[in-house]
Amino acid sequence: MKTQKIEDIIENVRDLRDADYHVCNYSVWQSKGEPDTKDNIDCSCEDFDLVIDKLELLLYEQKKYA
Ligand SMILES: [Zn+2]
Repeated sequence: MKTQKIEDIIENVRDLRDADYHVCNYSVWQSKGEPDTKDNIDCSCEDFDLVIDKLELLLYEQKKYA
């Protein structure tokens, strides 16, 4: 795979993470001033970041052995 394509995919995943339809419970909770809550306030951005991390590792390997 060309490194440019991997960079494109990383950009796409970032766009998904920052898109309006991705509502991160943690960000919402923070924007409310971090009140006491029993709601789920897990940060779902991390799910996207995990994929980005894997792609960046792949990118690194590709550049290393190119
Ligand atoms: Zn988040």
